[in-house]
Amino acid sequence: MIPASGSYRLSNVRLHRSLTPGLAAAFDSDGFALADMSVADGKISSIAAHGRPKAPVGAIDLGGRIVMPCFVDCHTHIDKGHIWPRKPNPDGTFMGALNATGADRAARWSAEDVARRMDFSLRSAYAHGTKALRTHLDSVAPQEEISWPVFETMREIWHGRIELQAACLLGIEGVRDRKWFEGLAKRVAAAKGVLGVVTYMVPDLEELLDHVFAQAIKHGLDLDFHADETDAVSAISLKKIAEAALWNGFEGNILVGHCCSLARQPDLDVLDTLDKVAKAGLAVVSLPMCNLYLQDRRADQTTPRWRGVTLLHEMKARGIPVAIASDNTRDPFYAYGDLDMLEVYRMATRILHFDHPVGDWPKAVTETPAKVMRLDGFGTLAAGGVADFVVFKGRSWTELLSRPESDRIVVRVGRAIERQLPDYAELDELMVK
Ligand SMILES: [Zn+2]
Repeated sequence: MIPASGSYRLSNVRLHRSLTPGLAAAFDSDGFALADMSVADGKISSIAAHGRPKAPVGAIDLGGRIVMPCFVDCHTHIDKGHIWPRKPNPDGTFMGALNATGADRAARWSAEDVARRMDFSLRSAYAHGTKALRTHLDSVAPQEEISWPVFETMREIWHGRIELQAACLLGIEGVRDRKWFEGLAKRVAAAKGVLGVVTYMVPDLEELLDHVFAQAIKHGLDLDFHADETDAVSAISLKKIAEAALWNGFEGNILVGHCCSLARQPDLDVLDTLDKVAKAGLAVVSLPMCNLYLQDRRADQTTPRWRGVTLLHEMKARGIPVAIASDNTRDPFYAYGDLDMLEVYRMATRILHFDHPVGDWPKAVTETPAKVMRLDGFGTLAAGGVADFVVFKGRSWTELLSRPESDRIVVRVGRAIERQLPDYAELDELMVK
């Protein structure tokens, strides 16, 4: 359907208002409008309302199929991905995940093991239409010396297909070893990475956060936190991060993931936290599939009673940038997943009610994470931009979000890519117990 020439015209393309800022058209109540789009030399040369001034001659008629920009996945763990067959989560709990992953990391995460699983993940993400991806890298000694060089090699290999970023990952207790943490911050800076930690309600949390911010300022790094991935009402590290950002006068980007406990706290406490989060300029990413899997997991095999996700609607209403992302894939934190951002969006629509109205929620998998990751021109469709987009079969939200869209067409730099998902059997030899 998409010519290999890289120069062509498409007519009857269905575009969403939130993803096409330059398009002047009469959008329907779902936010869609039909448009005509020209692609030349790998770039979008024009986008106009369908038939204005007239339908382009010789155009390929897409029959009203939805076209979206390629996805941006801002929170993943491709260093952990696909270890499930050799190290499953024994009980589906967060602690079960933490312990299983720690044991697997210590025993098995050689450079080759990490590289092969990362490559598998990236091939999947690419085939599903992802253009940029941030991964966390477990950076507890001595893993940082193994995984960061592998990441740098992968970033080089994947340059031009997936824009890769990495953030270090360690429990905030690890920051107490000031000398080691400064060394890690230097290593992250050398790799042009992002400084990341997991916050827990430890007695010296404020002091440790100050040190994290001081290191980020010293080395010119953006920040990325895992915060409050628990149902414990007492977990308020999101608020502590916002306060630390304010009193340290931090000017870089801060992304905070999870924030599950916020949904369990009293309204007045929530309002106070959200005020501070907005004032501090934090962005929040929710990980709906992983949260649904781990949160409210019950040892007595009773039924979960809450969805695990944070208060994304309330955040967006206050102007806090909000995204959703894949998080873990086939590892003890989440037994499933394939870095398919359409699946993440479909699940988020159901878990988080991204519908009736859809509004500008599609930005949560495109433009918003792109801005957090400082990726100019990613996540929107505009004349002059690179022709990186996904052509779906669906012509409406109900069609798009009802099927897996396994037959979607992914166009990169104007050309349809070969969408070959890697075979699980490729990893079998790494999975021997
Ligand atoms: Zn995560």
